[in-house]
Amino acid sequence: MTVTSASAKAPPTIDRKARLKIPPQPMPAQDPKERVHNFDEVYLPLTLETAKAEAMRCIQCPAAPCQKACPVHNDIPGALLRLENGDVIGGAEVFFQTSNLPDMCGRLCPQERLCEGHCVVGKHARPVAIGRLEAFLADQLAETVGYPAPDTIEPTGFRVAVVGAGPAGLAVAEELAKKGHAVTIFDAWPQPGGLLTYGIPSFKLDKRVVDRKVNFLLERLGVHFVGGVYIGRDKTLDDLFAEGYDAVFLAHGASVNNRLDVPGADLPGVMQATEFLVRGNLPPERLPERLRAPLPKPRHVVVIGGGDTSMDCVRTAVRLGAERVTLVYRRTEAEMVGRAEERKHAREEGVVFEYLTSPLRFEAGPDGRVAAVVCQRMELGAPDASGRRRPVPVEGSEFTIPADLVVIAVGYTADPDVVESQGVEHRPDGLVIADEETGETTRPGVFAAGDCVHGADLVVTALAAGRKAAAAIDAYLARKAEAAA
Ligand code: SF4
Repeated sequence: MTVTSASAKAPPTIDRKARLKIPPQPMPAQDPKERVHNFDEVYLPLTLETAKAEAMRCIQCPAAPCQKACPVHNDIPGALLRLENGDVIGGAEVFFQTSNLPDMCGRLCPQERLCEGHCVVGKHARPVAIGRLEAFLADQLAETVGYPAPDTIEPTGFRVAVVGAGPAGLAVAEELAKKGHAVTIFDAWPQPGGLLTYGIPSFKLDKRVVDRKVNFLLERLGVHFVGGVYIGRDKTLDDLFAEGYDAVFLAHGASVNNRLDVPGADLPGVMQATEFLVRGNLPPERLPERLRAPLPKPRHVVVIGGGDTSMDCVRTAVRLGAERVTLVYRRTEAEMVGRAEERKHAREEGVVFEYLTSPLRFEAGPDGRVAAVVCQRMELGAPDASGRRRPVPVEGSEFTIPADLVVIAVGYTADPDVVESQGVEHRPDGLVIADEETGETTRPGVFAAGDCVHGADLVVTALAAGRKAAAAIDAYLARKAEAAA
């Protein structure tokens, strides 16, 4: 498949002024009153007519700042030019040239600070809806002709173990399997997908989209998946090399929930974000035995945190039928790190936001379960090490929020167990030390990329790093083959 660059393909007759007058197309979405009763995606599928009309709003600027701002540098103008001409498959193929997960990135990227945030049309009107169009094209291709794959794949005889079945792991598995390497993915969860399956709720990413990709890897590319295996505990890197793997790619993410050190944090009814999200969003058969008990229907839910995970939690709580869902965050909305769109959706769904509020303790009711969160108001002081203004308690401002379920969503760290004493240098916080360009770690043959190197970040940044590491692993194996010849 050869695709020329967007600017080279753009016809000289593009009338940019006329295009700027094309109104933004309405992007269909479920009404908040309806969507709070289901776990279906908020956004509804586009029609071809809407997608083509929206693609025509792209003014095909030669500098393509959207492409530069995209972490995998998707040729957005090139894809949208094909779409407006009705070449849906050709448009999708452009995205698949630089991305393994356009159907997911189109749904999940914070486009307002990446591609769409740099769209020149956005200086005049709403930016071109790049993410929605990317997902539309990728869905169309996947559902009609299937994901792109070589007609024949010549086996190289090399075996690669991928640790972690999330975005970086899936991308590396796909890239290396297409080169003929035999890939096995190991993951602590029973099913593949990592964060895509076990972190992101279905109302943001339909699990069928993840399953579709996983099935392609397993059935079409011959990737093996071994679930329920925790590398570093059940099996070591030495074990993997002893089993005959020629290289190992670490993509175990940053999945350990940060704890909140306040009195009552261990009460029944106080739960970490991951447990709440998986039990609230997934059927028991996709979960390990210990997490299969259904969640009791909550009445008053309090979620502590300020990032996208906290939004996932409050919106899941709404869908589980909670009467009142409150988000408690110690700074103001301006300091929140998550997407504004997520907060908008949460507000539309009835979530109450308590800004400048910090939990002091969780109190138990007569049954011993959590019954209330005692909070304290805060005000913003001088900036801290993160550059954000430090929240300072306001004396005498305590108040209580009733809660029969409290969810802690205050961030994630990497699990050092995976690399501890395994010849792979890591930082005290568990993050693996790896080369930015190649993913090489301090142990020969072991590569790493994504959240286990940089900490919790975006799907698309993990994907971008994974693609670089895949190229480096392929080169490493080529050197091994040369040396053996
Ligand atoms: Fe935009 Fe993300 Fe798609 Fe890149 S991968 S074009 S940043 S939505």
